[in-house]
Amino acid sequence: MIDCIVVGLGLAGIAFCEELEAEGKKIIVFEDDSQKSSTVAGGLYNPVILKRFTPVWNADEQLEVALPFYEALEEKLQTSIDEKLPVMRRFAAIEEQNMWFEASDKPKLSKYLDTQLVINTNEAVDAPFSLGKVKETGRIFTGKLLKAYREYLQAKNYLRNESFQYEKLTIEDEFVQYQNIQAKKIVFCEGFGIKKNPYFSYLPLNGTKGELLFIKAPTLKIDYVLKSSVFLIPQGNDVYTVGATYNWTDKTNTATEEAKRELVTKLSKLINCEYEIIAHVAGIRPTVIDRRPLVGIHPENPKLAVLNGLGTRGVMIAPTVPKQLYKHLEYQAELPNEINIKRFEDADA
Ligand SMILES: Cc1cc2nc3c(=O)[nH]c(=O)nc-3n(C[C@H](O)[C@H](O)[C@H](O)COP(=O)(O)OP(=O)(O)OC[C@H]3O[C@@H](n4cnc5c(N)ncnc54)[C@H](O)[C@@H]3O)c2cc1C
Repeated sequence: MIDCIVVGLGLAGIAFCEELEAEGKKIIVFEDDSQKSSTVAGGLYNPVILKRFTPVWNADEQLEVALPFYEALEEKLQTSIDEKLPVMRRFAAIEEQNMWFEASDKPKLSKYLDTQLVINTNEAVDAPFSLGKVKETGRIFTGKLLKAYREYLQAKNYLRNESFQYEKLTIEDEFVQYQNIQAKKIVFCEGFGIKKNPYFSYLPLNGTKGELLFIKAPTLKIDYVLKSSVFLIPQGNDVYTVGATYNWTDKTNTATEEAKRELVTKLSKLINCEYEIIAHVAGIRPTVIDRRPLVGIHPENPKLAVLNGLGTRGVMIAPTVPKQLYKHLEYQAELPNEINIKRFEDADA
């Protein structure tokens, strides 16, 4: 008998495995590469919504937990995954500069918005109205993290590189059974893959497809994240990622010409140097209608739980919810209403 089966090893799965390991639990993890969101993510953490200059939900609390979480993973996996990088918001007009100053007076934003405007001196960047610097930002190399974490679990013989087949799960009074595994609990962290999960597909997770381009631009030479209608994120060796798109109808992980055109058009308004597109990736963000995570226990099967709905901000949210779910599962501690999946049962009642 093991303690827990975990299905899915994206950011949510990793964060929950970390919680289980910290509690000394025995686990088996299933991962089949069917979803790509964590693999392709830009990996940014940024406490401010830069379209409207408003704070991200629970930003202070999330950063407080997330940064030590990734630091501990760096130590454990012996690899560097967190890079502190400033995010620079390009202003499209004087009015936007004024909005920035107004926002920087607000209590929840003052520590994040630098009031010293940055004058752009890079000829490859088109930013005549200067840039605003966001503080306490950075990027997690999510692809590198996923690879290292898989290797870590593999070495402990905890990982099954295969699809979890829901029809083969049986639920008994004291445990769940899957193939030759008996476990006290099972926690589903499948991202958009939840749509195939007969126990939790009722939850209102819509999914939003996102695409990113990798470009090589030898004369661009920026060492910060540049944000306009798209993000431009330096990857080293003159490579940058450009993204992302938002598509609410296409639910495939296939890169499209339409998204490429959209990104190229937006990029043309931001930089004016030569570049070459070297890669193009896509994934589906597990977005929920109310933009809050989906955490909790199945209404009829208390051995089944879910950790999903990280949406567009998995990097900051993923580390913060597993402890709450763990305490809920082990000690019946209350979950905050805004993340508890019960909010959707109550809505139906
Ligand atoms: C283009 C793009 C850019 C993004 N940029 C950022 C960013 O800059 N910052 C940020 O914070 N967030 C970003 N995100 C969002 C972020 O990627 C997500 O919030 C987060 O990765 C979701 O993690 P997850 O573990 O819930 O889901 P996923 O990453 O989808 O992981 C679920 C895992 O479960 C596995 N799985 C599913 N079903 C099964 C099954 N039956 N059996 C076995 N395994 C299964 C899948 O293969 C997958 O690995 C971006 C997303 C996209 C698409």
